Amino acid sequence: PVVTRFAPSPTGMLHIGGVRTALFCWLYARRHGGTFILRVEDTDLTRSTDDNIRIIEEGMAWVGLDWDEGPIPGETDQYKGPHGPYRQMLRMDLYQAKIQELLDKGLAYRCRCSKEDLDARRAQAEREGKAFSYDGRCREMGYDASVPAAIRLKMPREGELVVEDLVKGPVAVPAATLDDWIIARQDGTPTYNFCVVVDDVDMGVTHVVRGDDHVANTPKQIALYQALGYDLPAFAHVPMILGKDKQKLSKRHGAASITEFRDMGFLPQAVRLTLAKLGWTPKVGGKAAESAEEEILSDQQLIECFALDEIQKAAAVFDLDKLTWVNQKLIQRLDWTEIEPHLRWQWHLRGLEEAWAARPAAWKELAIGCNKNRATLKDMADTLAFLFTRPETFDEAARTRFLTEAVKPALREVMALEDYAHDTLKADLEAILQRHGLKLKDLAQALRVAFTGTVVSPPIYDTLALLGRDEVLARLAPWA
Ligand code: GLU
Repeated sequence: PVVTRFAPSPTGMLHIGGVRTALFCWLYARRHGGTFILRVEDTDLTRSTDDNIRIIEEGMAWVGLDWDEGPIPGETDQYKGPHGPYRQMLRMDLYQAKIQELLDKGLAYRCRCSKEDLDARRAQAEREGKAFSYDGRCREMGYDASVPAAIRLKMPREGELVVEDLVKGPVAVPAATLDDWIIARQDGTPTYNFCVVVDDVDMGVTHVVRGDDHVANTPKQIALYQALGYDLPAFAHVPMILGKDKQKLSKRHGAASITEFRDMGFLPQAVRLTLAKLGWTPKVGGKAAESAEEEILSDQQLIECFALDEIQKAAAVFDLDKLTWVNQKLIQRLDWTEIEPHLRWQWHLRGLEEAWAARPAAWKELAIGCNKNRATLKDMADTLAFLFTRPETFDEAARTRFLTEAVKPALREVMALEDYAHDTLKADLEAILQRHGLKLKDLAQALRVAFTGTVVSPPIYDTLALLGRDEVLARLAPWA
């Protein structure tokens, strides 16, 4: 059975590069009916606050990457799955036991070289123009636990360590180029490379899929698998995501964290689809999309054709316009009930969550339905927000142009209509226009200015229906 994991360190944001890695892990696990694990690598205590961990959990939940094993959002020491806890800081006993096992078997040793000493030797190597590597001088000393010491792994001195990478192909590193690395510091805390291997083994991970910034760690980790007598998992190192300027993706490119994409009004489904296609070309039924319509794939379609060894080697370039295009397509296609839960976030950001929630379903359906051409949910909320708040300022030019004396009698007739229900409204408005010799545009723009303060609103029939009688009267009264 396939087991993949996403193992972020809490840094205060969930980068979309990380999300794409997680997505690949998730797609692969789902493709093979396997397990997808979320593991929080929180050993950097300065950054691993509960808030930062929550940012990861919420980001993953929002983007729709559900994990089979891992933390339960918002809970500190509860989790689901048989291999927990899924926070490294809560797994220290396991690491200590494994360190002891390696010491007992003579596969690791205590190193008493002080930091000052090592720094001096490093400086010396630099002066000689050489790369520093620890010479293993404490290897045979047999220091016991009586004095503080770091613990190093005895690395093989001969042969090669080979990473069979599903993306990059085989990468061989001569063992002699790697020194005995530290698995636990003097203060007893285990190091990152050590914990990753122990956890991946303990959690039964079969496919280690991660960012290629970790590729240099892998030979070291392989030596640890071997020392502990474990089978190697498959590795897939995924290239980075860059901005159009070929720099690491950051806020400068529009956004980089998953939270920002949510706030900008993207659907999680649009983010998933766009990220999946960064460096991978889905071939549904064996062939790539041949039309724009075929570009819009469902999760199920992605899952059915996903393969790790199809991921491209080159770094992928993120294009915000592409995401926007996908988002717009999805808004057009999805049923309003699929959009509404995500639109709620926009109301939340505007402090209008309750006001929105209080509206009946048919009203929400109309509000979303008349905005199906918006590129983002933010645009959608922006054009609907006037329904909840009366305008305080009025565009002066629009006011003088459209709210004229000539249009006033027509406004009064609009106010006299009994209701603004769809089927009768159109005919009623036409009759009013005829009586006053006006064009629809004259009346519609005048109504828009009165309702919103600007000339932007959804189609005027929908706008009247959405506002409802009381609100129409209240907003027209000052002008009619
Ligand atoms: N915690 C590491 C990171 O956030 C990931 C380690 C791994 O996937 O092996 O970069």
